[in-house]
Amino acid sequence: MRVLVVANQKGGVGKTTTAINLGTALAAVGERVLLIDSDPQGNASTGVGVGRAQRSSTLYDVIMGEKPALSATVKTAVPGLDLIPADPDLSGVELELGHEARRSFRLRDALEPLRSSGAYSYVLIDCPPSLNLLTVNAMAAADAVLVPLQCEFFALEGLSQLMRTVDLVRGNLNPRLEIQGVVLTMYDKRNSLSEQVAGDVRAHFGDTVYQSVIPRNVRVSEAPSFGQPVLVYDLKCAGSQAYLRLAREVVLRERARRAVPA
Ligand code: ADP
Ligand code: MG
Repeated sequence: MRVLVVANQKGGVGKTTTAINLGTALAAVGERVLLIDSDPQGNASTGVGVGRAQRSSTLYDVIMGEKPALSATVKTAVPGLDLIPADPDLSGVELELGHEARRSFRLRDALEPLRSSGAYSYVLIDCPPSLNLLTVNAMAAADAVLVPLQCEFFALEGLSQLMRTVDLVRGNLNPRLEIQGVVLTMYDKRNSLSEQVAGDVRAHFGDTVYQSVIPRNVRVSEAPSFGQPVLVYDLKCAGSQAYLRLAREVVLRERARRAVPA
């Protein structure tokens, strides 16, 4: 089981969209995927069609130790894709845990039984748009970070800040944390800024940046209002095809990593 955390402290860069659709694409190529919604807004839950009524158990219960992770999962309409949903209670976690020991390891501890169960090959965690305790828990629980990056003017500054956070987490909480990759999102080929930023990001981060680029595509933004991943809503559209290519790249990186003796 590989735990990938989808993180970027900026809002609106495509984290939730990437978590949903990469998760769906991985399930489509035969992986057993668990999507964990770690944003109190619950957009990932809504986006895979799990409404408020189906959120009797949530990530809040799991982090507070009131429910084992395995019993908080719900099936989605996508075969091979399960979800641990979020609700607004999740925003209370920071206050409720106070200065408790192991407050940063709540999620990691909760996911341990999942690792030994063999139920999932990939766990994707959708993070809130900040570097708060929820994001720290996600990074402490993860094997690798996947960073969606919108091709806009301050993208590189934001990315540097995120990389510093990853270094801090590595130094203090999770030495094995890797960067799975950086994915360029909402790429608009008619906009020269998109191209310029993409070039700068590739110059700085080289092969860390996936070859697959997610284009700005109206079908991608329509899909959540139907409670469907875009791959279900419109498999043929450019956005769906880009997420399928990204999934293949993610799997290839994981295979290459396993092939290298530790
Ligand atoms: P985050 O989780 O980082 O806040 P979201 O995934 O919610 O970002 O995306 C922010 C907004 O941009 C949403 O309205 C989403 O539908 C839209 N969006 C994301 N990716 C695309 C895309 N490739 N094409 C068009 N709209 C997109
Ligand atoms: Mg989001």
